[in-house]
Amino acid sequence: MISIWSRLIDLIAPRACVMCGKRLGISEHVLCGACNLTLPRTNYHQDALENELAKVFWGRIPIEKAAAFFFYQANSPSSNMIYSLKYGNQPELGIELGQIFADECQHSDFFEGIDAIVSVPLARKRVLQRGYNQSDMIAQGVSLVTRLPIIKKAVKRNSFEGSQTQKVRSERNENVEHAFHLLRPDLLQGKHLLLIDDVITTGATITALAKEILKAKDVKISVLSLCHTKGK
Ligand SMILES: [Zn+2]
Repeated sequence: MISIWSRLIDLIAPRACVMCGKRLGISEHVLCGACNLTLPRTNYHQDALENELAKVFWGRIPIEKAAAFFFYQANSPSSNMIYSLKYGNQPELGIELGQIFADECQHSDFFEGIDAIVSVPLARKRVLQRGYNQSDMIAQGVSLVTRLPIIKKAVKRNSFEGSQTQKVRSERNENVEHAFHLLRPDLLQGKHLLLIDDVITTGATITALAKEILKAKDVKISVLSLCHTKGK
């Protein structure tokens, strides 16, 4: 059912597809039907225990399930969309993509047994620069569909701008090994947590975050990402 209200909004403020820029139909969200069809979906959620993303973590952290919406391919329209989500001041894009993907995962048993969501924290400085944490937005979208609670402030991301880390900054590069700090193990204890990220490439970020989270007792970890960069 399309309300008169949404028809009116569409008339006043027509929306455009984030991938191709064409005007969206009244029943379309974020992506037009054609772009939606061309998204290089991973379909990992249909085999959540044993897929290419889950394997990224094998031997590094104990992982239950893993899912990613689509493959990240540099310079492709779908990946430009991720750039807009990160740097283009479009927080609502993260929420909508999170919703679309969670809707698709609902057709499998992916969310079964999961108790709560933890999104990958960004350093405070980054959040101030960008205005939001894109992983928080994806988490909000997933939570809207699944009703899973989001646990905030249990883990923080350290800022590497401090003087005591100045020395190692040059060698740091993508070293995220000690990027996170568990503040509230009591909030996580005994739960099966779904860690949410925007793009997973080497898996180093999620591994570091999970290792910190696993300091809480009886915790299980699953992973959901919008993108998986394969072959890295
Ligand atoms: Zn389109």
